[in-house]
Amino acid sequence: MIECWQGASPIARVDGRERLVFCSNDYLGLARDPRVAAAFAQAATELGSGSGASHLVTGHSRQHQALEEDLAAFLGRERALLYSTGYMANLGVIAALTGREDRVLQDRLNHASLIDAALLSRAELIRYPHADAAVVEARLADATRGRAVLATDGVFSMDGDLAPLTELAQIARRRDAWLMVDDAHGLGVVGARGRGSLEASGVDAGAVPILIGTLGKAFGTAGAFVAGSRDLIELLLQTSRTFIYTTALPAAVAAATRVALGIVAAADEERGRVRAHVELFRREAAQLGLALLPSTTPIQPIVIGSSQRALAMSEALWNRGLWVSAIRPPTVPEGTARLRVTLAANHTTAHVLQLIEALAAVARS
Ligand SMILES: *Cc1c(COP(=O)(O)O)cnc(C)c1O
Repeated sequence: MIECWQGASPIARVDGRERLVFCSNDYLGLARDPRVAAAFAQAATELGSGSGASHLVTGHSRQHQALEEDLAAFLGRERALLYSTGYMANLGVIAALTGREDRVLQDRLNHASLIDAALLSRAELIRYPHADAAVVEARLADATRGRAVLATDGVFSMDGDLAPLTELAQIARRRDAWLMVDDAHGLGVVGARGRGSLEASGVDAGAVPILIGTLGKAFGTAGAFVAGSRDLIELLLQTSRTFIYTTALPAAVAAATRVALGIVAAADEERGRVRAHVELFRREAAQLGLALLPSTTPIQPIVIGSSQRALAMSEALWNRGLWVSAIRPPTVPEGTARLRVTLAANHTTAHVLQLIEALAAVARS
């Protein structure tokens, strides 16, 4: 349990000792950025700690409205709609768009909230092998009555690789399916200008009519949103149950997120620093013979295999003052337990080298 953080650095005190953290999703270091925190505090003083109701009753404030407009503008979309969490956004979007007659195609490694969303919708859930566009094409070729939603993580949360968005977009267009991308780990940090996995893949907004983003990762606050066409957002506003039947985020969270979004939009240098950390980490880890995955993003897992060994390595790193969590089945497939390393803009080169040195020592033992 975290007692406190050392300023805006990725160093937390746990059990009375400082730990250098390499497993958070705070990729740009905004969760403790003083500018975001100040906006949060000031807005809480002016607007209160809670929104008091759902958006459609009295919970929707000017700050929520402005954040939705800012997010839509940042992503080049007509509109955006806030949800209280990414989990709820995925449930609410898929359940609103599909029903018994329909099909939802999903990558096997998609986030649990997308899988649960398909179950809630009662649509037929078709899980395809990771990143296998040929299987997607074949399954979509079967003619059926209903509509098809093709849903994928933009950046896979436990592997760090990007979805094959160029191919998926072509297939979705050819087969008349709606492509939905959950870019929780991409937006803000991936792509030179932070527009996420679409930017990194050179796929335009029109090819992905439904884009999900979360605010608790690179944006450093909490909540989530869907961005898309005016018609999509209007439909969700009227029918999406996890939007309608829940309390709006505190307006102070929206106000803080607007400041965070301004920082994200201007954070090319920070994104460059993260990319440099990724390159340094990969080069050095490969030298040590560690099993990396083909990831270009800040998520850089080291596949260990057995859960027991992954846990032992995580514990050995912990004892050296480093926090790198072990991820085990069923979160990842059997036999692929891993150390999920994440790199962030508030790490320094010295921090990355400290991690490498500790991994070298731990891997030897
Ligand atoms: C974290 C995450 C979510 C859930 O977002 P929360 O706001 O934390 O509920 C959804 N999808 C993906 C891919 C995620 O990584």
